[in-house]
Amino acid sequence: MKIKQITIYHLNMPLVHPFETSYGRETQRECLIIAAQTDNLTGWGECVVTDKPDYSSETISTAWHVLKDFLIPAVLNVHLPSIEDLVDTYQWIRGHYMAKASLQAAVWDLLAQVEGKSLASKLAEPYDEEPKDRVKVGVSIGIQPTIADTLTRIEDFLSQGFSRIKLKIKPGWDLELLSAVRDVFPDIPLMVDANSAYTLGDVRIIQQMDDFNLTMIEQPLAHDDIYLHSKLQELINTPICLDESIHTPDQAEWALEINACKIINIKPGRVGGLWESRLIHDLCETRGIPVWCGGMLETGIGRAANLALASLPNFTLPSDNGPTERYWTKDILDELFILNGDDSTITVPTQPGLGISVNLDRVDRFLVRKEKYQ
Ligand SMILES: [Mg+2]
Repeated sequence: MKIKQITIYHLNMPLVHPFETSYGRETQRECLIIAAQTDNLTGWGECVVTDKPDYSSETISTAWHVLKDFLIPAVLNVHLPSIEDLVDTYQWIRGHYMAKASLQAAVWDLLAQVEGKSLASKLAEPYDEEPKDRVKVGVSIGIQPTIADTLTRIEDFLSQGFSRIKLKIKPGWDLELLSAVRDVFPDIPLMVDANSAYTLGDVRIIQQMDDFNLTMIEQPLAHDDIYLHSKLQELINTPICLDESIHTPDQAEWALEINACKIINIKPGRVGGLWESRLIHDLCETRGIPVWCGGMLETGIGRAANLALASLPNFTLPSDNGPTERYWTKDILDELFILNGDDSTITVPTQPGLGISVNLDRVDRFLVRKEKYQ
């Protein structure tokens, strides 16, 4: 298989609801979409960068630069029989995980289409177990103006059929919030995500979170720390889940080696692609560590890839990849991802490749800029 042309689309899409975390508030989502074309097929990938280096150091501009000047020239018109061959072409490029992951996703889509397999089946090739037909999903609730607003939103999501609630927290928006939520919803599966808002000096506050029966506390300490998380995990009962700190399978192994976490959130964009995601999945499985697939407010393209990934055996905790209507009034696909309210799941696409149809009229509607490379 040879890629003859790659198009990068820069999109800016308004979110249905603004989303606030400990590092800021988003009302729209900027991202890059990659279309990789062979003689007769198109593979799609999403680059989950944003317009500013907050969650990650990568941005729209850095990803565009690395794709245009290094990744795309490395793969155009090169024989790519497998993902290993693709990864070999750019192994020398350091960092830039989101840029790499977007190109890799488009190639996974192409390779699966060539074999007439769904991406989920293609990803599941090394395992005895079939991929799951439906993936459990939860909902992530950003920081709200008031606790009462949060309670209303939880009530609303539970009534829609979501079974797991994740709350974004930060210092000052934590214990009082959790106490109020547990008063009203004593038994729901509940977790929190701090997006690195605390330090080890806040250990007294974090220890009190043990009272709220949380499934996990996600990334409480610095985005680039592993060691201090191991010190914190010794002092609390709630499992720590690492997100921002893990960029490579090696970093995942170091984290598990020193007990810095008991759960890992795998986002393909953060770790360089679906190939690396699967390596981390396998490593965690051998050590009895559950994983789940986080979200980056993806369009349907990234959502379809995440659902395929989350169908693998050791993704045993609910994913953050909710239904389309949670994020977009109009997505860029013809298909909608719908919540199966009976079991809080989304059905994994079964058609070849990503199993989606990208609607180019909608892409045009949100387009900031596009460029073709061949
Ligand atoms: Mg997170």
